[in-house]
Amino acid sequence: MPSHRNRSHTTQGIILMRKPWKESSFILDVLTVDFGRITVLAQGVRRQRKAMEGMFESLNEAEWVLHKSPESEWFILKDITMVTPHLYDVNLPTSALMQAAAELLLKLLYDDMEAVQLYQLLKEYLAYVVKVQRNGIAVLWRFMLRISLIFGFPLFLNRCVKCSKPPQAFGAYYPQLNGLICTSCLHPAHRDVVIPLTPTASDLFIKLPHIGSMLDDITISIPDGRLITDVLLIHLSQHFNRAITLKSLELYFLAP
Ligand SMILES: [Zn+2]
Repeated sequence: MPSHRNRSHTTQGIILMRKPWKESSFILDVLTVDFGRITVLAQGVRRQRKAMEGMFESLNEAEWVLHKSPESEWFILKDITMVTPHLYDVNLPTSALMQAAAELLLKLLYDDMEAVQLYQLLKEYLAYVVKVQRNGIAVLWRFMLRISLIFGFPLFLNRCVKCSKPPQAFGAYYPQLNGLICTSCLHPAHRDVVIPLTPTASDLFIKLPHIGSMLDDITISIPDGRLITDVLLIHLSQHFNRAITLKSLELYFLAP
């Protein structure tokens, strides 16, 4: 629980984004356990040693001591203790996958209860994706599926959204029904309103719940990688009523 002594609050948090502010400060977007997603002003830290600047890299996980003035929405940084600098020393594709998660969490709207779950999910994701040697994009897909679950908007991978039967193969994502439809239900008349899947993309969707154990043995082509990512983003976009895209992933697809 946050301590209210001297109006200082202690919490765990992960930096989603930092922006320079005036000559010597940063404004940080931080996902915290106790206060949800907050804005933190780190005053004067850019004037200090370079090591101090490193404390405020995106996706750093830290223990925060914060001051909250009643007049402002912002928290003021009092002290910070690094727990894990997640982006430190990771390769480019992994870094892109990690930053895509942060980018996604910056684009969603959530309350404090959801933020606690998202914080835990992000922590697990960062710890997992860094260990994966191949096909890390599938770990991001699992992250996105878990997000839709947290918001009560699951994407079912074990049944067709139209006939409810377990699919032999999925033919398309059907935005109006917010789900995947099987090849038997997909008719030519749907062509203009669905996002068609390739057989290999369908196969990846069906494998997705258990894909963690297969990452070393499967191949995900770049077109399938983009297609599945797009379908998951469209699914989230439907729920949040806004088009959600992930720029960070371009780096991944350039060097997967
Ligand atoms: Zn069906």
